[in-house]
Amino acid sequence: MTQVAFISHSDCGRHDTGWNHPEHVGRLRAIPRALRHEPELFESLLHHEGRHATREELLLSHDAAYVDRVAALVAKGGGHLDPDTVVSEGSWDAATAGVGCLLDGVDIAFDGRALRSFSAVRPPGHHAVRDRAMGFCLFGNVAIAAQYAMAQQGCERVLIVDWDVHHGNGTQALVEHDPRIHFVSMHQWPWYPGTGAANDCGPHNTIWNVPMPAGLPAARYVDAFLAAVDAATESFTPDLVLISAGFDSLQGDPLGGFTLTLDDVRTLTRAVVERAERWCGGRVVSALEGGYEPDAVAQAVLVHLAALA
Ligand SMILES: [Zn+2]
Repeated sequence: MTQVAFISHSDCGRHDTGWNHPEHVGRLRAIPRALRHEPELFESLLHHEGRHATREELLLSHDAAYVDRVAALVAKGGGHLDPDTVVSEGSWDAATAGVGCLLDGVDIAFDGRALRSFSAVRPPGHHAVRDRAMGFCLFGNVAIAAQYAMAQQGCERVLIVDWDVHHGNGTQALVEHDPRIHFVSMHQWPWYPGTGAANDCGPHNTIWNVPMPAGLPAARYVDAFLAAVDAATESFTPDLVLISAGFDSLQGDPLGGFTLTLDDVRTLTRAVVERAERWCGGRVVSALEGGYEPDAVAQAVLVHLAALA
């Protein structure tokens, strides 16, 4: 068993989108509730409360004017950043805690406390671009973590894999100009946000987009995803793997039409871990992205955590 950290921050619950918004706080609350029913798994984890990312850390991926715009809207009490993306009084603390959890995940992976981690955070991050919020996302959690790993931990090559049902357009936009980062995104097509065509490989051919129709047998998604991961690492050995673990790719999610089961979550997680063992001693930093059926997300997180170990 490898030590796995479960990283969270109570401030992530303070991003108040309202109960009618699919990305509501109940998504996170379901996770510890489910974990309590798995005492063996619960006790095996290193429970870690993350920190807040600093403004400078947000600037690893975002424009200062955008970061200030988010802060100003939060200071005013909240409002809309885009038609889907709202902020409340607590959203600055939530979003910086979300990023900070991942940054701690990176540090923990390198200082020996836990080789692997999962950060149960919200708001999600993979749609946010340099100067704009989008698709429920404020800051590019995973993209910032990749830049941080290179700046703080001396990483030279980082692989990001994203199995959320939506294209990680923000992550792609934030990393495609940096050839030290390879990015694999599998997503439903055609679907929100409309980007991520197979022939969109980024300016340095470091992006592997895997658009897939809805409703296929689950094995087709698993095979396509892992084939892309292998293609992305053919002549590129990452020293850290980041997972954008969106569980809206599960069968029955209200915002997606993929058909993954808990078994597939286990298979995907193990396949990434096995490869990470070969590449970089097994360092994997995973974080929640989408997933809008809270109990299903929680069950998937339990399976994902167990498979990380
Ligand atoms: Zn999604």
